[in-house]
Amino acid sequence: MSLLAKNMNKTNKYKLLHELKDRMEKDDTLPLKKGATKLVFGTGNTEAKILCIGEGPGYNEDQQGIPFVGQAGKLLDKLFPLAGLNRNEVFITNIVHHRPPANRDPEPNEISAYGKYLDKIIEIISPEVILTLGRFSMAKFLPNVFISNVHGEKYTVMWKGKEVAIIPMYHPAASLRNGNIFELEKNDFYQLKEILRRMEEGKVKVPESEQMNLV
Ligand code: URA
Repeated sequence: MSLLAKNMNKTNKYKLLHELKDRMEKDDTLPLKKGATKLVFGTGNTEAKILCIGEGPGYNEDQQGIPFVGQAGKLLDKLFPLAGLNRNEVFITNIVHHRPPANRDPEPNEISAYGKYLDKIIEIISPEVILTLGRFSMAKFLPNVFISNVHGEKYTVMWKGKEVAIIPMYHPAASLRNGNIFELEKNDFYQLKEILRRMEEGKVKVPESEQMNLV
């Protein structure tokens, strides 16, 4: 791909996400819009290979229009470096993009209403890895599993015709309620570093059967 083509591609994703955000802002059918201050569309690197999907905005996110800027976000910022990551390398969004009243769980009809926009975000970013933060985003890709059984593991799924690695993580806020979970979360992010390393290695390593000995 030429440099020009690469740059055009980059501009495209940025532009498409902005267009989608504008459309979402004008959509009065979104069920949580009335009670919310701001749309929390998503933030981060539009060229990211890793997409993080949380649950829904809380008080601070609703005020600022940016995901994970409150207490859960501070924990997330402590966890990313354990996997060798920082916020600038990922794109972060949520399963619903307006704050549910009193931070209650999002309901199935709400998840489905925001889902059509989330699907578009996934399509535009086209990530190689999706980190689900909490059980609601996990259930979108891995239905009928318990987070306690699958956290920190890599699952390859076909998503709209493309292979994506889904790595279910506990929601960072879970450790605010249960201190033991923070240890599990830290382990999962350490393990994530290894998973990402192996995925990178797999890309450049030629399988033995494909190697040619020029003798
Ligand atoms: N929790 C979430 O799931 N998302 C946010 O944006 C903030 C807290």
